[in-house]
Amino acid sequence: MFHVKQSHIIVVGGGHGGVEAAAAAARMGVQVSLVTLDIDGIGAMSCNPAIGGLGKGHLVREVDALDGIMGIAADGAGIQYRLLNRRKGPAVQGPRAQMDRQLYRTAVQNAVRGMAGIDVIEGEVADLLVGNGAARGVILADGSEIPADAVILTTGTFLNGVIHIGLERKAGGRMGSRASVALAQRLYDLDLPMGRLKTGTPPRLASDSIDWSRLEEQPGDDVPVMLSFLSREPVARQVSCAITHTNEGTHDIVRRHLHESAMYGGQIDGKGPRYCPSIEDKIARFADKTSHQIFLEPEGLNCGTVYPNGISTSLPEAVQLEYVHSIEGLEAARIVQPGYAIEYDYVDPRALDRGLQVRALPGLWLAGQINGTTGYEEAAAQGLYAAVNAVNAVRWDDPFHLSRTESYIGVMIDDLITRGVTEPYRMFTSRAEFRLSLRADNADQRLTPKGCRIGLVGQHRAEAFDEKCRRLEAIRSVLHGARIGAAKAHEAGLPVSESGPARSAMDLLAVANVGIDDLDALVPELCGFDDETRAQVGREAIYANYLDRQETEAAHLRRDEATVIPADLDYAMLRGLSHELSEKLTATRPDTIAAAARIEGMTPAALNVILLAIRAGR
Ligand code: FAD
Repeated sequence: MFHVKQSHIIVVGGGHGGVEAAAAAARMGVQVSLVTLDIDGIGAMSCNPAIGGLGKGHLVREVDALDGIMGIAADGAGIQYRLLNRRKGPAVQGPRAQMDRQLYRTAVQNAVRGMAGIDVIEGEVADLLVGNGAARGVILADGSEIPADAVILTTGTFLNGVIHIGLERKAGGRMGSRASVALAQRLYDLDLPMGRLKTGTPPRLASDSIDWSRLEEQPGDDVPVMLSFLSREPVARQVSCAITHTNEGTHDIVRRHLHESAMYGGQIDGKGPRYCPSIEDKIARFADKTSHQIFLEPEGLNCGTVYPNGISTSLPEAVQLEYVHSIEGLEAARIVQPGYAIEYDYVDPRALDRGLQVRALPGLWLAGQINGTTGYEEAAAQGLYAAVNAVNAVRWDDPFHLSRTESYIGVMIDDLITRGVTEPYRMFTSRAEFRLSLRADNADQRLTPKGCRIGLVGQHRAEAFDEKCRRLEAIRSVLHGARIGAAKAHEAGLPVSESGPARSAMDLLAVANVGIDDLDALVPELCGFDDETRAQVGREAIYANYLDRQETEAAHLRRDEATVIPADLDYAMLRGLSHELSEKLTATRPDTIAAAARIEGMTPAALNVILLAIRAGR
């Protein structure tokens, strides 16, 4: 009888990238060894206890659409849901939920344990097995060797990690975990382009030491928007957060001690995330601001600790306590774990191919923070994507590529491998030029069929998706089929003129300020559809008129990317360019729009400003 050897992939790391990589490979039928320093740390959230947000919520939904575990795990642990940018259009709304850390970790661990084909190994990967110019497995610190067809590294902040609290420094991958030094050395020996980045986290506070009564309560949404397409409602008890603010006293304390901050005392070389600044950064860079908002976010239902979002720091612990006490409601707060900064090695992602494989060493894939990104969602999306490509490669199947036009994952991969990073990369909706069609609400329609075709999506999700599509098709057909005269529509109170041709109900739904409820009296069949189907078709209609225009703009942009930029273009004179981008453009002087587009931090809007300037002959 013919025996086909089952492929075997090793995933190094049990963080957010690692678990999605392991789970994706296992769903595709590959044997997976998940090697991690600490089994109990699988699914741990190193920093903020939240999943989703602006841009990040899109990534969670895309991972979920491809049957990843993050969305479902998050809905098993969500203790407060908020749809960010609720007042703006659905394209830029970001579903976000506050997590009970322990529940999240348990949900992830259960998902990994419950999946056939994943063998979890506790140990430190110290070296790679290399043969015939390709990665062939790993060597653990105890000398044991594990051969495999492919290796995916998702080591997060652990490579040569150094933790800084004030002027103290110690090796560590995050608080309470050792750093990964031998493996980092191996990557240097491979001559991979590497650099240093940093990130920070705030002190954690004891909940019972906070005077909640004096603070502004921030409840969750009345109707929670779930992170997974398969979830219906939260399972955990829902709680409120609270809001407080720094004040001039806080700023004085921080300013007096700036020289003791690891970041400001010259202890750290690595670049930090600009959009997630430490309290030191905020006070030094935005000296004119007299107050900054702080969200007090419970880290769980029973753990008793609170994450003060907005005051990450690397000041000495005594200074942290002093500035925390200067803040309203926190006058008697106890610090349970001090804030700290971490500095770590990353690999320049321009060394990777479009499937996240290291070009110089086939068989080795990298995903997550090791590629210079920051965030659970960015790591999860890369882990899943790298695993699919690793599985396809070991099976000699075609690569699985997602383009910028169809997903935020595609945007992120393209950004990473073409632009590299100069600071920790995180997702924003502004990075996606086709964002009107890349919405969190339609991630399943964009990606689930693709996932089904490659065996990444399980039967349960595939069936739920088919059922949803049937309902959507049915309601679209009702809306397209119903023709309504102008006078009748006007009489029903719709904001349209009394005269003019009859229109389909779908066209009427696309008129500004017309909602699906407004059409019920005119098209009674609509009342037979469930709320979610009605809401979804309403979201689609909002953009119906813009999508053609977006496609045209995209085509123009592609053409213009080959347009030469005059060498003497004065970026400082261009209205609509941020100061930072103008400086970068002046320093790098890209010769074409294509080159300008690859500059880190460049946005579609800024490219348009330059294009207009070229056309105007400035
Ligand atoms: P991680 O979640 O870090 O997981 C790495 C895994 O690799 C761990 O399981 C570890 O045990 C394992 N590992 C490492 N080396 C080895 C080895 N040699 N052998 C075996 N296993 C190994 N994100 C934000 O979005 N916003 C923030 O403000 C933010 N602040 C942060 C502050 C701090 C102090 C830290 C530590 C992280 C912060 N993050 C923040 C980042 C967030 O934690 C990461 O982006 C995310 O966890 C990355 O996921 P990952 O899978 O790449 O790595």
